[in-house]
Amino acid sequence: MTNLNPIHPRRLLLFSVRPNPQDFEQDHSANSQLGYIGSGWGSVSLLKKLDTSNYNVIVVSPRNFFLFTPLLPSCPTGTIEHRSIMEPLRYIIRHKQSAVKYYEAEATKIDHARRVLKLADLSDVKGEVSETEVPYDYLVVGVGAENATFGIPGVKEHACFLKEITDAQKIRTKVMDCIETAMFKDQTEEEKERLLHMVVVGGGPTGVEFAAELQDFFEEDLKKWIPDIANKFHVTLVEALPNVSVVLPMFSKTLIEYTESTFKDEKISVRTKTMVKKVTDKNIECEVTKPDGTKEKQILPYGALVWATGNAVRPVVRDLMAQIPQQASSRRGLAVNEYLVVDGTDGVWALGDCSATKYAPTAQVASQQGAFLARLLNSMAQTQELESELKKLEDLQLQAAETGDRETLDKEIQKKEKSLRRVKQLSPFEYSHQGSLAYIGMDRAVADITWFNGNFATGGGGLTYLFWRSAYISMCFSTRNRILVIMDWIKVKIFGRDVSRE
Ligand SMILES: Cc1cc2nc3c(=O)[nH]c(=O)nc-3n(C[C@H](O)[C@H](O)[C@H](O)COP(=O)(O)OP(=O)(O)OC[C@H]3O[C@@H](n4cnc5c(N)ncnc54)[C@H](O)[C@@H]3O)c2cc1C
Repeated sequence: MTNLNPIHPRRLLLFSVRPNPQDFEQDHSANSQLGYIGSGWGSVSLLKKLDTSNYNVIVVSPRNFFLFTPLLPSCPTGTIEHRSIMEPLRYIIRHKQSAVKYYEAEATKIDHARRVLKLADLSDVKGEVSETEVPYDYLVVGVGAENATFGIPGVKEHACFLKEITDAQKIRTKVMDCIETAMFKDQTEEEKERLLHMVVVGGGPTGVEFAAELQDFFEEDLKKWIPDIANKFHVTLVEALPNVSVVLPMFSKTLIEYTESTFKDEKISVRTKTMVKKVTDKNIECEVTKPDGTKEKQILPYGALVWATGNAVRPVVRDLMAQIPQQASSRRGLAVNEYLVVDGTDGVWALGDCSATKYAPTAQVASQQGAFLARLLNSMAQTQELESELKKLEDLQLQAAETGDRETLDKEIQKKEKSLRRVKQLSPFEYSHQGSLAYIGMDRAVADITWFNGNFATGGGGLTYLFWRSAYISMCFSTRNRILVIMDWIKVKIFGRDVSRE
C-alpha cells in the first residue's frame, strides 16, 4: 500500500509515493518484542512518541480507537457526537516510523513467569482462532481501570456507567426511553415522576459534568420539544461524602461554592452524606446522615441512574498482582517505582489508572507517564546501540597497529561515551500539574490553572467557559477531532440538540 502526499517541495513532483511502514514485516531477529496493552491516554501517548524502529511493537486492546474522555459527558446528550472524540488506532499506527502490529483483543492473562500474554477476541464476530498467545521481552500495561461499584447490590444490573462510548449510547437510550415512557397514554403521575427522575451517583468531576450536561439538555431542548415534561424532569446528584468540595479537591473553596450555587440555580438537587445501599430496577435505597449524626433510610424512585463513583482494579491486573509477591500489599493497582517499573518485575512497566502512584488517576497523569516511558524506551534502545558501537570501536582499537589510528579511534570512543552518558541520564518520572477544569452547566465552567509555577483560580462566567472550550479543543488528539468538536458545538448552537432515541 502507498500513501500519496501532495506536492513534494524538494523534488517538485506532483505526488511523492511514501511507503507504508505497515507494508514491511517486523524485524523479529534484531529487535526486542515490546508488547503493550491498552489504547487509552497512557498507551497512546507512549505510542505517539515511541521510536518504533527500535522494537517489534505489538499493541493489544479491545478498543481500536483512542477516546478523548474529558468530552465523554457531552456525548449522551448529543452536545458532542461520539465519533468526534474518537481517533482510530489505525491512523496513529499508520504514521509510525516502522510496522506496529495491532490485535483487537483483550489480554485475559499476563503470564509473568513465561513472559507471555494470553489474548482473546471477545468481539461479536469470531474467526476460527479467537484465543492465542503473544510472547514479549518488554511489556507496558496500560489497561486503565473498571468502574467501582463497591459490591453494592443491583448497581451492575441496573445502573449505567460512563467510561466508554457504548456507555454514553446506553445512557442516551435510557434517558430518552424514560421520557417517552413517561409520556405514554394514561401513565400515572407518580410513575411519570419516577421515570423523569434522573439520578447521578458520584460527586466527582465526571458526575458533576454529566449532571450539568443533562440539565442543559433539559433546559435548552427537551423542554422545548416535549413541554409536557417541563414540571417533572429532575436531576439529582448523590454523594456519600459530606459535600461536593470533598470530591472536587482540585478546586479551591470559592470554586466549590460557585459550583454548588450554580447547581442551585440550575435546579439540580445535590444530596450529600447519602450512601447508596441497594439498587433495584425502580428504586435506590440510601442511608442519609442527618446533621445530628443520626442515620435515616430513604428510598429514591428513579428512571435512569448513572453511576460515576471512581475506579476499581481490572481482573487482568489483579491476576498479575497475585503472581508477584512484591505486589501483595498494593490495593489500588500495580505498585511501580519512580521509573514506572512494576515492583517485583524486570522489563514490565505500568502507567495510568492501572498503576498505583501518588498521583490522581487522570488523563493528564497517564499521558505524561506515556511520554516519559517513550523517552525511557527510546533511550534504552539508543543505549544498547551505543554500547555495541563502543564495543566494536574498542575491539578495533585493540587491533590497531598504528598509533595514529589508535588516537583517532580513541577520540571516537570518547565521543560515543559522552553520548552514552547523556542518553543514560534520565531522571525519574515527575508529574507536572497543568491545572483542573470542569464544566458546571449554563455555559459556566470552573478552572484552577497552574501558571508560571503559581496557581490561579477562575470561577464561572463566559470567559472561563470560553477558556474551558479552548483548552479542551487544544487537548484533542488530532486536527480532525478539533474541527469535528467545534462543528458539533456550532451545530448545537444553531439547531439545538437532537431529541431522538439513539
Ligand atoms: C467520563 C470521563 C471524563 C474524564 N474527564 C477527565 C478530565 O477532564 N481530565 C482528566 O485528566 N481525566 C479525566 N478522566 C480520567 C481519564 O480518562 C483517565 O484517567 C485516563 O483515561 C486513564 O488513562 P489510561 O491510559 O490509564 O486508561 P484508559 O484511557 O481508560 O485506557 C485503557 C485502555 O485499556 C484497554 N483495555 C482494558 N482492558 C484491557 C485488557 N484486558 N486487555 C487489553 N486492553 C484493555 C481499554 O480498551 C482502553 O483502550 C475522565 C474519565 C472519564 C471516564
